[in-house]
Amino acid sequence: MHKVCPFCGEELPDLRSGSLEAKLEQLIEEAELDPTPENPHAMLLPFTRFISFCAQHLHEGKGLETARREGWPLEPDFDALPQRVRNLKPELEAILEDPDSSTFFVLAKNSRKSGGSGVLRMFQTFGKQGAAYYGQKGFAVLADTLRAVFPQGSIPHGITTSLDYWGLVEEVLIPEAAILLIMQDKNISEEKAREIHEDSHSFGVMQHSVDDEGH
Ligand SMILES: [Zn+2]
Repeated sequence: MHKVCPFCGEELPDLRSGSLEAKLEQLIEEAELDPTPENPHAMLLPFTRFISFCAQHLHEGKGLETARREGWPLEPDFDALPQRVRNLKPELEAILEDPDSSTFFVLAKNSRKSGGSGVLRMFQTFGKQGAAYYGQKGFAVLADTLRAVFPQGSIPHGITTSLDYWGLVEEVLIPEAAILLIMQDKNISEEKAREIHEDSHSFGVMQHSVDDEGH
């Protein structure tokens, strides 16, 4: 059993999911042995073939370890999310009344002002938005619910002149709602919740991806 990843050289987790083990076996079949002094089991494969495997073993190892240590929910109750988000309406309305009080609104607005392409914007905002440990699955639930709670016609005109409706939902209302949910989940201050929001982003993306049917 491999203790170290043959492709990136990082330690492999002792406890691995079936899908991780299956991917490892498949990649080993495709790869050529390329021993190094540090790792006699090192193997050669194109980067694009193993990058998602390495992301997954890092998640199942260090990612989950961090989540457990920090107390991030591993299996949040997604069914309860829509109602919880609807209950946040007053707090989110207050943000819409004073959008410049939201760091996410300012970030979204400024990232458009700099005139960059969509890709450049993604780099500026990467990891700062999203639904934290709720991942892509939570992002999708939040997007649906927030669009129902705040339909396009309900958004104050002053906001839509600097940010389009989709940008407002995905880049402002979703992260703001996520922070309010984290405050409730963990019974902590807004400041602490903002830290967790940023720190748990990558974990959430890996733990609850959209094509993830297991959870
Ligand atoms: Zn690896």
